[in-house]
Amino acid sequence: MGTLLTMSKINRRAFLAASAAAVPMLPVITSSAKATVKSNAKGGPIAISSGNGLPAVTKAVELMRAGSQPTEAVVQGVAIVESNPNDMSVGYGGLPNENGIVQLDSSVMDGPTHKAGAVAAIENIMNPAQVALKVLRRTDHVLLVGDGAKQFALAHGFKAEDLLTDKARKAWLKWKENLNPNDDWLDHDQHIEKDPRQARAEQLGIPYHYGTIHCSALDANGDLGACTTTSGLSYKIPGRAGDSPIIGAGMYVQNEVGSAGATGRGESLMQSCGSFQIVQHMANGDDPTQACLKVLKWIADHTKRKVLLNSKGQPNFGATLYALRKDGAYGCATMRGGAAFTVHDGTKARRERSAFLYEK
Ligand code: ASP
Repeated sequence: MGTLLTMSKINRRAFLAASAAAVPMLPVITSSAKATVKSNAKGGPIAISSGNGLPAVTKAVELMRAGSQPTEAVVQGVAIVESNPNDMSVGYGGLPNENGIVQLDSSVMDGPTHKAGAVAAIENIMNPAQVALKVLRRTDHVLLVGDGAKQFALAHGFKAEDLLTDKARKAWLKWKENLNPNDDWLDHDQHIEKDPRQARAEQLGIPYHYGTIHCSALDANGDLGACTTTSGLSYKIPGRAGDSPIIGAGMYVQNEVGSAGATGRGESLMQSCGSFQIVQHMANGDDPTQACLKVLKWIADHTKRKVLLNSKGQPNFGATLYALRKDGAYGCATMRGGAAFTVHDGTKARRERSAFLYEK
């Protein structure tokens, strides 16, 4: 086991002074070799996303260059992934719930106005992030759920569509036909080495994931926007909403500090207010990677049920956290072993490897 919580801190006063003076250069952040921290950050446009987000960061930066605000840019960026039937973790083609129905979650937050919008368990709408953006812009509310969210989308001209692809339906059917005691209805509390639902799906040779796209963006004016969108936990109990539509859990923006987002076990991210915590750590002077690692550690320390812990007492589930600071520094950390994430720093879109809390 190797924790990576030893990275040096940015001096808080230096960070605040640099922000106040709108000077993009910050003190060089030293980090362990495994941590991904961009030092000498040069401001926006920049976008950071999950491993499946290469088209999203590319689009987001292109749009910001053309004058779009970051919030609009991230929503348009993730739309490419939402509409892709081959990404089974988001939008069209996403794996359905226990009843074979695709229910989607999404949230979006705009830095300059500090306004958020979100939808949870919405059905038949391919681009929930766009509906979340409508909630942000066209209502005085933050979160619409279920049928209300769908009716709201229809009222704004979205089309109702069948989002269940054949591939996702067949995977669900096989799942359904092989239901076993290791489902969400817990009747025991013992240490488990690996998420039992994941293990079962591997045995059946069907896809199973927590899986999602998060995208945070910073424009050349120093404004931030963020969006997270997902089909959520595969084969979930109908009506289950994860962290993605919950402001402060699946994503959070504080325009004067930075933006953060999360993918992975939504329950752990909701119970930690994970994205909110990341931004607060950055406000207190932590670099983005360090902020993500601190929250992962916090989650690990507050995971108490044996079914969520392996025999070493470590979380047996995955969570990946993303952070983008107002000066353009960014970072990503995952619970175990490192994960791919994507970034476009204004020069090119690429994949990078995240820091991690525990070795594989
Ligand atoms: N966080 C999402 C959820 O819990 C899923 C994921 O990101 O893997 O619904």
